[in-house]
Amino acid sequence: MPRQVLIGSIKQETNGFNRHTTPLAAFERQGINIGEQIFAAYENANLEIGGFIQVAREEGWTIIPSVASFAPPAGPVEDEAFEHILGILIERIRAASPLDGVLLALHGSMVTVSHEDAELEIVRRVREAIGPDVLLMTSLDPHCNISQAMAEVVDGMFAFRTSPHIDQRKTGVTTARMMAEAFKRGTRPEVVLERRPMLIGFDGARTYHSYGPMLEAISLAATHEKDPDILPISIHAGYSKADCSMVGPSAAVTGFAPKSRLQEIASAMMDECWRTRETTSERIVSVEEAMAAVKAHKDGDAPVVLGDYGDSPGGGGYGDGTALLSALMESGVGNAVLTPIFDPEAVDQALSAGVGNRVTISIGGRNAPQQGGGPVTADWLVKTISDGRFVYTGPYGTGTTGTFGPSVVLESGGVQVIVTSIHKGIYDQEQLRIYGIEPRDMAVIVVKSMQGYRGDFQGIASVCLDVDSGGITSPDPAKFDWKRIPRPIWPLDPLRP
Ligand SMILES: [Zn+2]
Repeated sequence: MPRQVLIGSIKQETNGFNRHTTPLAAFERQGINIGEQIFAAYENANLEIGGFIQVAREEGWTIIPSVASFAPPAGPVEDEAFEHILGILIERIRAASPLDGVLLALHGSMVTVSHEDAELEIVRRVREAIGPDVLLMTSLDPHCNISQAMAEVVDGMFAFRTSPHIDQRKTGVTTARMMAEAFKRGTRPEVVLERRPMLIGFDGARTYHSYGPMLEAISLAATHEKDPDILPISIHAGYSKADCSMVGPSAAVTGFAPKSRLQEIASAMMDECWRTRETTSERIVSVEEAMAAVKAHKDGDAPVVLGDYGDSPGGGGYGDGTALLSALMESGVGNAVLTPIFDPEAVDQALSAGVGNRVTISIGGRNAPQQGGGPVTADWLVKTISDGRFVYTGPYGTGTTGTFGPSVVLESGGVQVIVTSIHKGIYDQEQLRIYGIEPRDMAVIVVKSMQGYRGDFQGIASVCLDVDSGGITSPDPAKFDWKRIPRPIWPLDPLRP
């Protein structure tokens, strides 16, 4: 009889400094795919579930699709949303049992109103439903905060190894292949997790330069992975803004080798994390430095691309900070675009004015005017109106769909701003093209994104700079009022080496 393997996914990355909780509607807007719907939504996409399905078909397993849903990063997930989606997963597991395995695509830094370690709660309830002998493996985002308790419940965890994350499907393939390996061996692997008292590590998992601590860590992992009893090592940079007790980098080693050997490798990985803690491949510039690059742009040059690191919706930022918008408008540069400003109220006002008309309104700066800039008032031309729907065509999440909701392009003094009614990050040029804006034709492109945009934008830029605009995804940990992280912790507190 073929192996019975259930697949599913519940994902959200929580920013503990975002005061808006994440309701069920935030998941519904992106789609809660149940049962067979999962094949249509994911089978051909560059996402983990596409990889699970691919391997399951190769192996001849019976695939039981359960539920797959995600919400954009924001504040903690509301209990109603978490219980609803997890409830579907557990119900499907019970209906399909007995199973041979469960493959879950998780993010790893979800916090809910009631559960600080939401992924632990997910795997615990899944384990309770499947029993002790069924294999349970998960894929992860390297921006995850993983607890020791979670490592004890699962039989394997495997994180993406690129950031921007262009290997999501590949990681799904790896995770499912490791399950196939365990089936073949007829034994369960063990997972050993190691941590250090650090808020961040492995250079934020950055791999878009040809150097840096994450690439060095991957090389170190490769030396251990030559041993056939050691499965791919899961390297976690952590996600500090989740502001939780299990915050920070870790390494999880899954394998069939003795536990002491797994422990030794996990410790070596985290020694490496500690050793490279001060090293970063990234340079984050001030708004002033960014504007100097904008002013240096000459006609005919490829676009200057600025990533608004401080206000990234993809990192749980409000996505309505205006520090860079104000600077851009003051700079007098023409042919610039900034995306997005999340402001449903401004969208409504512009829609009432109608396309081709002018309207004097304030946009953005509503959520945290002290962090990242207050509302910007101007006489805007309503240039374009759109339903905001797009399909990713770049390397990130290729083939998946998304929406900014009803949205508009407003223009003033040569600066175009995409104002949206759904809070969402920027990863793909298509997210501009749907508004009639061809990125290559612009002199300046400002995208609210920390790293994710580089997959599709770095290649068209004359220069790419990440800018600290002061919002709630700012890179400077000293700017935040931490509530739940353990202390002492590097780099906030003095620690003995
Ligand atoms: Zn990530």
